[in-house]
Amino acid sequence: MSIDMKYFEEMEAKIPHGKVRTRFAPSPTGYMHVGNLRTALYTYLIARHAGGTFILRIEDTDQGRLVEGATDVIYRTMAECGLSHDEGPDVGGPVAPYIQSERRDTYGKYAELLVERGHAYYCFCEKAESEEDSGEFDRADDPCRDLSLEEAKARVAAGEPYVIRQRIPKEGTTTFHDASFGDITVENKTLDDQVLLKRDGLPTYNFANVIDDHLMGITHVVRGSEYLSSAPKYNLLYEGFGWEVPTYVHCSPVMRDAQHKMSKRNGDPSYEDLKAQGYLTPAILNYVALLGWSPRGEISNQEFFTLDELVKAFDIGGISKSPAIFDIEKLTYFNANYLRNLPPEQFCKVAEPYIRQAVKNEAYPVSEIAALLQARCEKLTDIPEKVDFFDSLPEYGVEFYTNKKSKTNSEVSLDMLNKVLPKLEALPEWTNDAIHDMLVSFAEELGVKNATLMWPLRIAVAGKLVTPGGAVEICHILGREETIKRVKAGIAKLA
Ligand code: GLU
Repeated sequence: MSIDMKYFEEMEAKIPHGKVRTRFAPSPTGYMHVGNLRTALYTYLIARHAGGTFILRIEDTDQGRLVEGATDVIYRTMAECGLSHDEGPDVGGPVAPYIQSERRDTYGKYAELLVERGHAYYCFCEKAESEEDSGEFDRADDPCRDLSLEEAKARVAAGEPYVIRQRIPKEGTTTFHDASFGDITVENKTLDDQVLLKRDGLPTYNFANVIDDHLMGITHVVRGSEYLSSAPKYNLLYEGFGWEVPTYVHCSPVMRDAQHKMSKRNGDPSYEDLKAQGYLTPAILNYVALLGWSPRGEISNQEFFTLDELVKAFDIGGISKSPAIFDIEKLTYFNANYLRNLPPEQFCKVAEPYIRQAVKNEAYPVSEIAALLQARCEKLTDIPEKVDFFDSLPEYGVEFYTNKKSKTNSEVSLDMLNKVLPKLEALPEWTNDAIHDMLVSFAEELGVKNATLMWPLRIAVAGKLVTPGGAVEICHILGREETIKRVKAGIAKLA
């Protein structure tokens, strides 16, 4: 072989061995769709479960698709989700660089090595870029496949533009194994001589991923099942180089419904969108973990998992072959549960911006309003509409005062409000307990149900049929002055 092997030997020597190594390899598209987040999560879990290494690699060889700030979205999402990587562009590692555009020279060298080994060839044909990218061309007609290596090299040396294509055997079959799909065999004649290295010297994704996965010592390749059909070609590349094939874990797509994959283009939410819609990151992660994986054995009925619990529980065998349907209702159910179970201070912290969207009056304490909301919202975005009555009393109709269960109508309500007004004015202190105890004992004194007194009072101070919290809490938050003002307004409306 006329090629200097020293470079390849040095690259080989850098490859870490002995531990599970997985990589999440996103292309910087500017958002993290749900399927991508799930791939990141499963990849992380497989590494962590085995005490292995989790690597982040940025696949930016498709320069036409580059989006400004897109890698930041990746870093931010992974950090927020707690999917911390051990090696990557920002943290470095033994097989750096971890950005494909910075590995450009490597791919060219390996493409040439593959040519030398007879599994690839220089192609000088003028082909449209789309043909190059899709690999759709008639192999039998490609005269370059049969050029002698000397002749091809002479043309390269003379400066003729070229691509390097994979030389797929014309006969026989190729079999590969996937951890969830099992063995898959295809006829080689159905595979195309795909482009490995483009005219600009950049690799195609299909070449770069094999080179990188090998040079980074990746043991488990976790990715979407859209890559299943390319896997035989990857196997032939590994074989062409004489490398060990990693364990493939292809994950079925996340679907919007039985027919359609989720897609940003069709308005399906990305991770960032879900957060903007009021979902908590741990709830999203928990739900996404179960989109295509189920716990087995003793924990087969468990629904709620922290990230640490997932690390313990996750096994490749639990990954499903069938597509998973993204169900926003189910995510909402998870989210409501996570919101309810947050420590109150933490709930207050996440709820505050949403409360303040509606409650601008700083006199109304956020922590007290948050306490009313915690058990009563499914998403953070539910909040503003629930607490809008604090800042200003809504317009409401007198019919709100009529409630069968509380035994109230307009007359009863007017009577109750007239009677309770001086009591509120005279209350020595304005605490939840003081308001509560006064109302309860006053109802007893009047010989009416608590609700007969509380209902009209709550309507008067909130102007809404449904409120988080009852009359006592709302009066307390509003303060005495505002409470009295609203009760008087209620009396005026009823009178
Ligand atoms: N860059 C590819 C993507 O974002 C990664 C596929 C793979 O993990 O190999 O779809």
